[in-house]
Amino acid sequence: MTTQQTITRRYRRIVVKLGTSVLTGGTPRLDRAHMVELVRQCAHLHSVGLDVIVCTSGAIASGRERLGFPNLPDTVSNKQLFAAVGQSRLMLAWERLFDIYNIHVGQILLTRADVENRQRFLNARDTMQALLEQRIVPVVNENDAVATAEIKVGDNDNLSALVALLAEADLLLLLTDQPGLFTADPRRNPHAELIPEVRTIDETLRRLAGGSASGLGVGGMATKLQAADVARRAGADVVITAGRAPNVILRIVSGEAVGTRFPALETPLASRKRWILAGPSPAGALVVDGGAARAISQNGSSLLPAGITSVDGAFERGDAISVRDAGGRELARGIARYGHEDLARIKGRHSDEISLLLGYAYGPVAVHRNDLILL
Ligand code: GLU
Repeated sequence: MTTQQTITRRYRRIVVKLGTSVLTGGTPRLDRAHMVELVRQCAHLHSVGLDVIVCTSGAIASGRERLGFPNLPDTVSNKQLFAAVGQSRLMLAWERLFDIYNIHVGQILLTRADVENRQRFLNARDTMQALLEQRIVPVVNENDAVATAEIKVGDNDNLSALVALLAEADLLLLLTDQPGLFTADPRRNPHAELIPEVRTIDETLRRLAGGSASGLGVGGMATKLQAADVARRAGADVVITAGRAPNVILRIVSGEAVGTRFPALETPLASRKRWILAGPSPAGALVVDGGAARAISQNGSSLLPAGITSVDGAFERGDAISVRDAGGRELARGIARYGHEDLARIKGRHSDEISLLLGYAYGPVAVHRNDLILL
């Protein structure tokens, strides 16, 4: 089997999280030579048709470097100052490196608020999707310059897990300065062994991960464990390993056992569907005609505005709603792509007319089939 086949068989969409320690190699500066190396591997995955999303740290480190390491008090606003200066430089570095391979990049800066609010979650998801559809590599970081304590994710480990969830990635690589998770701290205990696979995240493991933080970055093993737990529940395999090991990204994607692996607990699609069922009770209902009822129940189609005959209740884009037939029978549950006011205006109309009727459009469907669970 060719390398290309081994690579594309396993995964479809990969989030590569690069910690500050990987990008600086433990120095106070971005190590562009190593960044080229990482981009080369990402570009290879991209060229065989995989979607790659980069979750990058290093804004603060880059800002410090640019300003000549000024001796400023260690306050939140000074960190934000460094991030504001460094983010654009960091992005420019990624842009130039991916350009070597003729790959475009798009910057997405997120805060916790962007993923917690469902409407904003959908917006971020749509942007991510739009970039990937055009084969543009999203480069994500926390919006450090504006994020305050309440809306900050805080560390890029947890941010990358949210990105994996948002993008429905099937692999999250947490690349750091350690080869993986060990049975004890390898710097202190010569008998420490690498844990190749984790199926259960329990207290013992949490305690093991507890203390180990590394120099410039924010997250230690504890945040990586939290991130791994979120991502594997969202349907992604997770691997924690050293980002400076040769060819590490390609080796993992081709199935080599590298670092510590956390197998996904389910598929991204199953995870989304479970969320729809377990989430808040439907905020409203869409009543559909016989044609639409058949299309969604028998053909697995999305629900188009054309098939909707009436809109009940008050709900926003991103809320869970129920889909009923004319007799009031609940056919499905799903996530509305439009709020109730918009749907009341576009119901019964062809999807081509949405922009004209509303002045904007979030796409042709009222409820996407991936967001629909038949009952
Ligand atoms: N967002 C921070 C930065 O770009 C890094 C946070 C982290 O490394 O977890 O500097």
